[in-house]
Amino acid sequence: MKFVSAMMRHETNTFSPLPTTLEDFCRGTGIDGPNYGEVAAKCFKETNSALGAYLDIADESGAEIEVAIAASASPSGIVRDTAFEHICEMICTSVALGCDAVLLDLHGAMVTETFDDPEGELLRRIRHVAPDIPIAIALDFHTNISKMTIDNATVITGYRTYPHIDIYETGERAARTLLRAMAGEIDPVISWKVMPMLTHMNKQTPSCEPMKSIMDRARQAEADGEVLNASIFGGFPLSDIPHVGLATVIMADRNNPNGQALCDELSDMAWQRRADFVFESGTLEGAVAEAKSYGDGPIVMADHGENVGAGGVTDVMDALEEVLRVGLEDVVAGPFWDPASVAELRSAGEGAEVTIDLGGKTDMPALNMKGRPLRLSGKVGRLSNGAFTISGPMMTGMIADIGDCAVLEMSGDVQVVICSKRLEPYDKGVFTQAGIDPASKRYILLKSRQHFRAGFEDIAKHIVMVPGPGVCSSDYDLFPFKNIPRPLYPLDDI
Ligand SMILES: [Zn+2]
Repeated sequence: MKFVSAMMRHETNTFSPLPTTLEDFCRGTGIDGPNYGEVAAKCFKETNSALGAYLDIADESGAEIEVAIAASASPSGIVRDTAFEHICEMICTSVALGCDAVLLDLHGAMVTETFDDPEGELLRRIRHVAPDIPIAIALDFHTNISKMTIDNATVITGYRTYPHIDIYETGERAARTLLRAMAGEIDPVISWKVMPMLTHMNKQTPSCEPMKSIMDRARQAEADGEVLNASIFGGFPLSDIPHVGLATVIMADRNNPNGQALCDELSDMAWQRRADFVFESGTLEGAVAEAKSYGDGPIVMADHGENVGAGGVTDVMDALEEVLRVGLEDVVAGPFWDPASVAELRSAGEGAEVTIDLGGKTDMPALNMKGRPLRLSGKVGRLSNGAFTISGPMMTGMIADIGDCAVLEMSGDVQVVICSKRLEPYDKGVFTQAGIDPASKRYILLKSRQHFRAGFEDIAKHIVMVPGPGVCSSDYDLFPFKNIPRPLYPLDDI
C-alpha cells in the first residue's frame, strides 16, 4: 500500500497588506521555502502535526508514504498564484504516479489571487488525476469549509482546540477513519452545514463557553460511536469570501441517521448561542490601565489587534506606546517584526546606546491605516539568530525561526524583542532564545489572540486582552467586506 501525503497550510487574512510567496511556506522547519520527500518527512516526524501522524500511521501499517511537499506559512495576506500552482503541481504529480490513498494536512482558510477556495481546488485537481482515490484531510479549527472540499474528500476532521494543541490527533483520526473505509469496515458519508455566523475569535475557544458545550457534545458523540468523526469549525472571520462561517462536519457510516441529526443539533446549538460569540473589545487605554492595577505578575497583555496567527503584521506600536506612556516597569514586549531595526541594532553592536524608529513600516490600506513608527532610545541587548525548538504544547518539536533578532534594553527595565521573521508568540522560546525568562518579568506584552495561552498561561497570574489597532481587530465594522454572504450575524441582526 502506498500513501501520498502533503501539507499545504495557510490562513489568509484578505485584509493583510503582506502578500504570501512560495518562500514564506517554510514554517516549522528552519529551512527556507517548502520541503519535499525525505527532508520533509524528517522535519515533521515526531512533531505535533497531522503530517507527523500520517508518517507514524504509515509506519504502523507497513505502508509506503511519500511526502509530495510540506508547505506551511505563517498567516498573512493573499497567496500568490505561483505558490499555489507549485504546491498543487507537486501533489498532483505524485498522485498521478500512482498511490492507494492521499493524506493531506491542510489549513482550510487559504485564499489565493485566483481562488477563494484553493483547498477545494486542490482536491478537485487530485480527483481529476485520480477520480476514485480515497482522500483524508485534517483541517485547522479556523477552516472556512466549502462545498468543493466536501464534494472531493473522503474523510474530513478538524482540530478541537484553540490554541491548537491536538493537531497530531486530528491527523490520526482522519487517517484511521480512512483506513477503516479502505478496509471495507465502514462506508463514510459526510453531513455538513455552515451557519451564517462571523464569530469573534476571542469567543471561539473550545475550552470556554459558548464553544465548550458544543465541542463537548461533538467529542462525546464520537467517543460513544454515535458517529465516526464530529468536527466543529469556528471559521476564520478575517476573510472576505463567500463561504465564510461557523461549520459542522460529521462523518458517519452510510445509513446511519445519526450523522445528519448530529450535524443539525450542533449547528442549532451554535446558532442559539450566536450572541455569546460576540466579543466586546473595550479600549486600549482601559486594558493597559487594568494591567497596571494588578499587584502580582507576570501579567500577560495580549494585543490581539495584530497577531501573526490571524495574519497580523506585528509592527503596530500603539500598545507598547501606551505601556510606556503609563510608566509600566519590568516589562518584556514583542517580538515585533522590523528587519530594518534589527539590522540597525546589529550594526551598532551589543552594549551600544541607540535611538531607533521601531515598527510602523507597513501601511494597511484595507483599514486606511498609515504605518507610524515609535521612537525609542536604549541600549542594544542580546543579539541572536532567532531559532529555537518548540517545547510547549503547540507545534511541539518543530523548529521555530524568528530570524535575526535583537533586544532593546530601555530604562525602567523594559526589554523590547525585535525580530526579522514574523511568528505568533505561542512558545516561551521567542523570549528565552534571547536570554530573557518571561516568568521573571512583571509584564509580558505579546501580539497574540489565543495561541499565547499554549506557552504563557502556565506562568500568567493575570491575562489582559489588549485591543490594539490592526488587521486582526475584533471590530468587524472596520473591515470593507464585499464578498461575504449576507445576511451574516452579527453584521446583520438575524
Ligand atoms: Zn487556527
